Amino acid sequence: MKILVINAGSSSLKYQLINMETEAVIAKGTCERIGIDGGKLTHKANGKEFVICKELPNHTVAIKLVLDELVDKEAGVISSMDEIDAVGHRVVASGEAFTKATLVTDEVMKTMDEIAELAPLHNPAAILGINACRAVMGNKKMALVFDTSFHATMPDYAYNYAIDYEDYQKYKVRRYGAHGTSHKFVAGAAAEYLKKKPEDLKIITCHLGNGSSISAVDGGKCVDTSMGFTPLAGVPMGTRSGDIDVAAIEFLCRKKGMSMEEGLTYLNKKSGMLGISGVSSDFRDLCKAADEGNYRAQLALKMFAYSCKKYVGAYSAVLGGLDVIVFTAGVGENTPTVRADIVSGLEYLGVKLDAEKNKQKNDGTIHDISAKGSKVKILVIPTNEELVIARETAALL
Ligand code: ADP
Repeated sequence: MKILVINAGSSSLKYQLINMETEAVIAKGTCERIGIDGGKLTHKANGKEFVICKELPNHTVAIKLVLDELVDKEAGVISSMDEIDAVGHRVVASGEAFTKATLVTDEVMKTMDEIAELAPLHNPAAILGINACRAVMGNKKMALVFDTSFHATMPDYAYNYAIDYEDYQKYKVRRYGAHGTSHKFVAGAAAEYLKKKPEDLKIITCHLGNGSSISAVDGGKCVDTSMGFTPLAGVPMGTRSGDIDVAAIEFLCRKKGMSMEEGLTYLNKKSGMLGISGVSSDFRDLCKAADEGNYRAQLALKMFAYSCKKYVGAYSAVLGGLDVIVFTAGVGENTPTVRADIVSGLEYLGVKLDAEKNKQKNDGTIHDISAKGSKVKILVIPTNEELVIARETAALL
């Protein structure tokens, strides 16, 4: 069985064709600058990279180009579209409308339109991608796999905000979380690696990338997560503030003459590591600047680790114990100093890092970086959101 995984953004579209028997990626690529001039497709297959520069006025043209590449004589990996058994689409937010992966129907797409405002930066783009695929691929089976699904098991006392309950009922304002497919993948991979049943483990999964979130996973189920109604909440991120007193924002908006919308852009795009450091949102740049003695870069990194540590402490309390801490995504997989700063001082929880193992380079495999005798395993696990999307799509068939 072959599944095409699509992750559509407003001006980009990433794809992977996955062979489900081996779970290997047969081909993958990215369309960039859709709807802007200078469209480009980068396609990787058969051990080579193919670049096509072509205007991509909309997602339908982009999808057509991807399908052409997949069946192309040189760049292709299949002889016809019939070899694709189904398409799995990544969708950021589901609200309470969907709690698990769902096959696409007209009715489902109507609901998708209704909930689009829950993730205005992401869901409308996914809808463009889904509609484009439906237009080009006829009645090929398609699934929607939601980033929020893994968090649907949170109890009501964890997902509700302390606001008027009737407003929650009316507007569905509550914590939904994000990065669920990643948290699900690494929690499952941790159990497999440790040869334990997921039901027997209390895990804290730290997805630390440009966007970062931390989840508490009890017996394979998510019981709390740091992101909220939107991915703005939780730990500070590349350009996002993370948790903040909303009254501070009202104050800043007044002082700086910003509208509510501008205030949100400020929090989403100009805050976090970038705002504090004034250097960059990228952790590689931050680490370099910090090493060179830049105080604000050092402060940004300290704030990040401190905030992550607070979540680890809080979630070990939520879980009533802790067996595993997992680090994943760009920063979690590649930045030993950040990992070390987060777990330092957590020895009282039974968390002991092996400094040497922690320095190992990311080679795409799982690394156990806990010291001998550490009660809590500390694992670095490369995430694979596309594989979760493909697996869930295959399961639906
Ligand atoms: P996104 O949330 O955009 O998916 P990623 O998970 O790719 O983000 O993480 C990007 C972050 O990971 C950047 O801050 C980058 O500096 C950091 N990072 C550190 N080392 C590496 C590396 N070797 N490769 C990729 N990203 C790295």
